[in-house]
Amino acid sequence: MQEFDFAIVGAGIAGVSAAYHLAPQARVVVLEREHVAAYHTTGRSAALHSETYGSAEIRAITVASGRFYRQPPPGFADHPLLTPRGALIAGRAEQEADMKKAAADFARLVPSVRWLDPAEALRLQPLLKPEAAAGGAIFEPEADDMDVAAIHGGFLRGARAAGAALRLNAEVMSLTRKDGRWLIALGDGETVAATTLVNASGAWADVVGELAGARKVGLVPKRRTAFTFDSPAGLDLAHLPMAIDFDESFYFKPEVGQFLASPADETPSPPCDAQPEEIDIATAVERIETATTLQIRRIKNKWAGLRSFVADKNLVVGYDPAAEGFFWLAGQGGYGIQTGAAAGRLAASLARGKGLPDDIVALGVTEAALSPVRFTQG
Ligand SMILES: Cc1cc2nc3c(=O)[nH]c(=O)nc-3n(C[C@H](O)[C@H](O)[C@H](O)COP(=O)(O)OP(=O)(O)OC[C@H]3O[C@@H](n4cnc5c(N)ncnc54)[C@H](O)[C@@H]3O)c2cc1C
Repeated sequence: MQEFDFAIVGAGIAGVSAAYHLAPQARVVVLEREHVAAYHTTGRSAALHSETYGSAEIRAITVASGRFYRQPPPGFADHPLLTPRGALIAGRAEQEADMKKAAADFARLVPSVRWLDPAEALRLQPLLKPEAAAGGAIFEPEADDMDVAAIHGGFLRGARAAGAALRLNAEVMSLTRKDGRWLIALGDGETVAATTLVNASGAWADVVGELAGARKVGLVPKRRTAFTFDSPAGLDLAHLPMAIDFDESFYFKPEVGQFLASPADETPSPPCDAQPEEIDIATAVERIETATTLQIRRIKNKWAGLRSFVADKNLVVGYDPAAEGFFWLAGQGGYGIQTGAAAGRLAASLARGKGLPDDIVALGVTEAALSPVRFTQG
């Protein structure tokens, strides 16, 4: 039986980033049920890095990740991981006061964020109809497109170069704690042993937690749909920001010569291989055609993925209070890629008993805000 210090369940962004940060100091195996890594949510995102999106902790961890993505270690990738995009959150006239307040709040962490008056908003995003930006817009000039495949691939390659093993087609079926280590029975009949089990299983995190006898953290996977469509002929997409409405009821962004769009749906779902529903695509088309001058004639590609949240929409990172040697790295919601680098690094530090890294504490993140213990109290 092979022995490891850390067995990581899941080879999505969470699992491979944790492996990358753990492997230089420990024996690591990543166990992935599918025949390829990044098959589930990690392979299905909209690939935006926004430092104004999510709770205060999510935004702080996104800022810390951005430092890594903007300047990755030599050899991590052969081209930039982030490219400028800009994000413009537009609102109706009656939303102006709320948008101004949100812009001021975001600017405390990201000083380049500002509120734009309606004319400026339409100049930057001329596809919007005037009424859709009558309350102006919040503009985040430093929001970037992420190369998710390069980010995920860089972590996986780096982890393997440092000695981590990746096992595909390796579903974790049962977990038994014996003599200070987990005996991990896999779907192919083999068993591996590890002192610590890192639960980075995405939408399945509560299912894997149950295998270890941990109390549920109340994770709710929520389906989100995305699709692509052609841009109008002759439109210059290079400098067009992503457009989001202030209610977050749709978004669209240029994506290599076409548009990627979503109704920003959040339909609760059991953990599964999520598939897009026609009704959600039709809803997005209707909302986008109402708010913009775009006409969506043909859907080119469509997909759906599960964004998994706990009640406070923060990450869940830390040792389970009841199941010895069981470490949570869950609740990535709609932010798993943009938080990935720093989440993996802070998870590796906590899992090794080293506490939160100083730079992440300096951004206002506490262990308590991320700890699974918050779900076992009260
Ligand atoms: C439409 C859409 C748009 C999004 N846009 C963005 C965005 O712009 N920016 C952003 O940062 N995030 C975005 N996200 C969210 C982001 O994609 C997720 O937060 C992130 O991918 C979650 O990564 P993960 O590693 O936790 O989960 P996953 O990628 O789902 O990985 C979990 C893995 O665990 C494996 N697993 C589960 N159970 C077992 C088991 N028993 N044994 C072995 N393996 C197991 C699964 O097979 C899976 O591969 C978006 C998501 C969607 C769906």
